[in-house]
Amino acid sequence: MSQLLLGKNALVTGASKGIGKGIAIELAKHGANVAFTYLSSVEKGQALEAELAAMGVKAKGYRSDASDFKAAEELVNTIIADFGSLEIIVNNAGITKDGLLMRMTEDQFNDVVRTNLNSVFNVTKAALRQLLKQKYGSIINITSVVGVRGNAGQANYAASKAGIIGFTKSVALELGSRNIRCNAIAPGFIETEMTAVLDAAVVQGWRDAIPLKRGGTPEDIANTVIFLASDLSSYITGQVLNVDGGMNTA
Ligand code: NAP
Repeated sequence: MSQLLLGKNALVTGASKGIGKGIAIELAKHGANVAFTYLSSVEKGQALEAELAAMGVKAKGYRSDASDFKAAEELVNTIIADFGSLEIIVNNAGITKDGLLMRMTEDQFNDVVRTNLNSVFNVTKAALRQLLKQKYGSIINITSVVGVRGNAGQANYAASKAGIIGFTKSVALELGSRNIRCNAIAPGFIETEMTAVLDAAVVQGWRDAIPLKRGGTPEDIANTVIFLASDLSSYITGQVLNVDGGMNTA
């Protein structure tokens, strides 16, 4: 086991499955203690807590809605009480509610923006006092290739993910002098449980269109998180790293 992140305490939002789960496991593999959240997948959250603890790190799952400002504040205060400090924050929780603009409802727009974008503000804001006290922190926000270049049928999702990029750059500019870094990762097509149910021919078409000829894995994103979380990237802040097999090279 690597000791790259030994003694560091990390928070990952939305880690009951998919990319967030991959990130939580990889953080633990590198020695970090892991606090993570979920919303509806209670059993999966409990199973992950046990899996992480078996890896020899301190691990705790919290059921908390990242889109709720007050709940995020309570969450972060509880984590700091439980873990003592908080060095790494991975804002990963996200949802989609796709549809063409013609048919998109106000609720579909607001729900996606609240969950994907407000959550990043809520959790980062709640942790700010602690990060400033420590004069140390790495904040990593999971955006999307869709936030960089847009996508038909995902105006709400693309807006939320583009918002994350503006937020990330602003936080990096505000907090750089306090040794707090803030970066974003823009995944391309990542194959998770969610994509396993899609039509095989459609998925193969997506793979073929990617320069590296495969979909990404949660581990591909998690490895990038490890780099941005650790001091290996100590001179990198305010950046958006595309992790997409070369999909977005413009
Ligand atoms: P996923 O499998 O659907 O997992 C989403 C996670 O977020 C779940 O753990 C879910 O928990 C949690 N979550 C949702 N709403 C929440 C809330 N309000 N508060 C706390 N947790 C909440 O999705 P994924 O594919 O792993 O995506 C993870 C992130 O990567 C998202 O931000 C997504 O936009 C981004 N991304 C994904 C891809 C891709 O191809 N998969 C590409 C680009 C970007 P519950 O199950 O308990 O609700």
